[in-house]
Amino acid sequence: MDLPRNEHIATVEGVDVDVRHWIGGERVASDRTFDDISPIDETVIARVHAAGADEVDRAVAAARAAFPTWAALGVAGRAAILRRVAEGIEARIEDLARVETRDNGSLIRSHRRGVMPRVAMNFRAFADFAEHKLSHPDMEVPGRGHRQRISYDPAGVVAIITPWNAPLMLATWRIGPALAAGNTVVVKPPEWAPLTASLLADIMHEAGVPDGVFNVVQGTGAEAGAPLTAHPGINRLAFTGSVPTAGVIAKAAAENIVPLSYELGGKSPLVVLEDADLDLAVEIAVEQFDNAGQVCLKAARMLVHSSLVEEFTARVVAGAEKLVQGDPREEGTDVSALISRRHFDQISGFVDRALADGATALLGGGPNEDLGGLYFRPTILVGAPEDAEIMTEEVFGPVVTIQSFETEEEAVAKANDTRFGLAATLVTGSKEAAERVSAQLDAGTVWVNCFFVRDLEAPFGGNGKSGIGREGGLWSFDFYTDIKNSVFSPGGWKE
Ligand code: NAD
Repeated sequence: MDLPRNEHIATVEGVDVDVRHWIGGERVASDRTFDDISPIDETVIARVHAAGADEVDRAVAAARAAFPTWAALGVAGRAAILRRVAEGIEARIEDLARVETRDNGSLIRSHRRGVMPRVAMNFRAFADFAEHKLSHPDMEVPGRGHRQRISYDPAGVVAIITPWNAPLMLATWRIGPALAAGNTVVVKPPEWAPLTASLLADIMHEAGVPDGVFNVVQGTGAEAGAPLTAHPGINRLAFTGSVPTAGVIAKAAAENIVPLSYELGGKSPLVVLEDADLDLAVEIAVEQFDNAGQVCLKAARMLVHSSLVEEFTARVVAGAEKLVQGDPREEGTDVSALISRRHFDQISGFVDRALADGATALLGGGPNEDLGGLYFRPTILVGAPEDAEIMTEEVFGPVVTIQSFETEEEAVAKANDTRFGLAATLVTGSKEAAERVSAQLDAGTVWVNCFFVRDLEAPFGGNGKSGIGREGGLWSFDFYTDIKNSVFSPGGWKE
């Protein structure tokens, strides 16, 4: 069992993690800590220093102090340093993977092969992109005789608040472009999985990121998050998390007129048309249990043409039944545990109420009694009434519903019958239907005959309650910069 080694360092899976904050290029202690509990076995793996308003003030001040020099370094200078950060991440993929897996219970094999390499890409891609797109000092738009020079100026200090389900990936997706654009950053990682943010601070330091450019304050939402969102010294607020928290944060940001970028929850559909490749549809459906279903983009509502629904359902149940549930540190594990006891109880409550509302569980429906702890069985529900809670609320666990439809119009209406609009997945054998139906689906991302493909240069975000704004490529820089138009008169010069 891993236990804290001393009050500053926790050794987690053989990796030393400093549990203090990282502010202004140094480790800063608090007089309070919170317990970081691993979902794998509910043991305390670290006692992490807990920030309040004082530490947040200090971090914002450090970021403000570092801003002019970092901004003045220019795109190429910053890009060179951020590429070294990417290399530093690549050199520590195994450490990052082990710590993230222990901290939030996600699969080590996903981290080794996909997530951590992507974390490095979040720096390299945005460094490249900034260098190619933002370094043109004379990006111009036509004017009526005047020259109009467009520049993307850094905005200042960016506050970044992230959730626990993919902490390092989601944080760096914001940190990469924010730093590349010339801002400085204060990150508040999730209290359920804070550790990889601390390792990232080490990597940043070793890569030569100047003191104060990147800061980490750890703590709960109420004690560390709230003072950060309300801080008058921040210029942008990037939040990934739940809708209720987003509402609270918006009020704080409104007070200081701080622009927000929100990536929130979802209740996304998977639409399987009559002409779909059933093998592909089943494969995509079974994928929805990845990360124990704790994925914002997950297709939680499966809508299947009536002619296919019986076979689809039987095959998805059979596929999900074969998934291996267990310790995520094992390469062979497919489904792990839920993040916390509180979350486990919430998921159990959703499923119990769905069953009471008339749904039937064709698979799962409760805890995995063989494993105990926080392991909840992959659960497939059918027969829930359209207006049941399970059909409308984000569950954020290994739970999906299957419904059928008769016509394409009905499929689209059901798919769009949600206050969210993060993603939608469509499986069809017809190019025409692909074009027609994808155009009608109300979501920030629509996947056709694929799932989870995300290019860093493409826009990403949600409609409705799933978010505000888009990031990715130039859309990220639209948010993390102050775009300026300098209008030059054709005359008036002393040549
Ligand atoms: P959450 O809203 O409970 O917490 C997210 C972060 O906000 C945490 O760091 C938390 O400490 C902080 N926070 C909580 N209260 C705060 C306050 N009053 N002021 C400032 N910060 C506060 O969300 P969660 O449970 O950690 O994450 C799950 C949610 O995140 C789901 O709804 C999921 O869909 C969503 N999510 C969205 C995306 C996306 O890209 N759209 C990605 C991943 C997760």
